[in-house]
Amino acid sequence: MDLTLSESERAFRDEVRDWLAENHPGEEPTEGGDIESFRFRRDWQRRLHSGGWAGVSWPREYGGRGASLIEQAIFSAETARAKTPPPANLLGLAMGGPVVIVHGDDEQKERFLEPILSAEEIWCQGFSEPESGSDLASLKTRARKVDGGWRVSGQKVWTTFAHESKWCMLVARSDTEAPRHKGLTYFICDMDQAEIEVRPLRQITGESEFNEIFLDEAWVPDENVIGGVGNGWTVAITTLMHERAGLGAALGTQLGTDLAELIDLIRERGLASDPLIRDRVARLKIGAEALRLGNMRALSSQMKIGVPGPEGSLSKWEWANLNQALTELAADVLNPEELRPGSRWAHRLLRSRANSIEGGTTEVMKNIVAERVLGLPRAK
Ligand SMILES: Cc1cc2nc3c(=O)[nH]c(=O)nc-3n(C[C@H](O)[C@H](O)[C@H](O)COP(=O)(O)OP(=O)(O)OC[C@H]3O[C@@H](n4cnc5c(N)ncnc54)[C@H](O)[C@@H]3O)c2cc1C
Repeated sequence: MDLTLSESERAFRDEVRDWLAENHPGEEPTEGGDIESFRFRRDWQRRLHSGGWAGVSWPREYGGRGASLIEQAIFSAETARAKTPPPANLLGLAMGGPVVIVHGDDEQKERFLEPILSAEEIWCQGFSEPESGSDLASLKTRARKVDGGWRVSGQKVWTTFAHESKWCMLVARSDTEAPRHKGLTYFICDMDQAEIEVRPLRQITGESEFNEIFLDEAWVPDENVIGGVGNGWTVAITTLMHERAGLGAALGTQLGTDLAELIDLIRERGLASDPLIRDRVARLKIGAEALRLGNMRALSSQMKIGVPGPEGSLSKWEWANLNQALTELAADVLNPEELRPGSRWAHRLLRSRANSIEGGTTEVMKNIVAERVLGLPRAK
């Protein structure tokens, strides 16, 4: 793969840069907690959308910009460089939309895609259950066929943004007799109904970004089944591939920016000649560069086969390691006052603990890389 930007890619980069310079939303508010910050991100996404920058690599016929994956990567790099906040509908943009584009029928594309881009309808992901996280195929939430649709009962957990969401990508067991991977169906479930209760969970950062959700005969009409009854596993895998590829790529770029900020801090503190600090910085620098190149390789393979491949798991795992090491180094460089509760670096340090769990744990990523990237024998 040629890593130098072509003339048109450089022009695209300059266009992004100019637009961001004129439309930067400013610093995200820290006062007002989750609600204010979500509102801020929603406004930001609306601005991105009106500028034609939501769904950068989505096809034009579905309201996207129709940009190439390389241009999408350039866009992510430029937003990281400009330190803009993430858009509010992160899960809709990175997973819900791509899944509807790949597996949805024409009516579903017509109904669901535009409100994802404009942040009018926020999406959440209802996969994990109290005893089914890594082993998704063991999930117990049941979907019962009734006239015109389905009644769904069970419990989901760690559902990020469920409290803000209109739609949930919900995987449930629709056939208890079938082998466990075959008895699943993928639903787009309306969160706005009395049969669903959303209970917030408090995180170590003090925020409540995620929730438990309890479904008691929740209603999903037939037209909101995506990919066909019994095909939930295949559709869920598409979602997870997009999640891991997206996480690794977007946050990999962010890591380079954060590392540059940390190096400045180390210089300011006069610690740049400390051999132990230098060693840790060098490891982070090498890791960040390896991650960048790994993301390029994953991108190259996605361009060939059209969908994200298992290499995304390698990026996700590496990014989690590096981001945790970076925030730990920052904590060693800062004085206790700068790490007081609520401060930016304290928040980053605490939030990074979830990196090796969210979007698939490091142990599970290692299994995927071993089996599907390196071709080693399957784990028992
Ligand atoms: C911040 C955050 C946000 C999240 N948001 C969402 C969301 O929006 N929607 C959603 O559905 N889920 C979400 N999750 C849940 C997340 O996807 C799960 O926590 C994750 O898949 C792990 O599942 P688990 O917690 O049930 O752990 P388990 O699967 O029970 O794993 C426990 C431990 O066993 C290890 N393990 C399990 N199986 C294997 C194996 N085969 N080989 C080796 N080790 C193994 C795991 O790596 C882990 O260390 C979120 C989690 C976090 C932390």
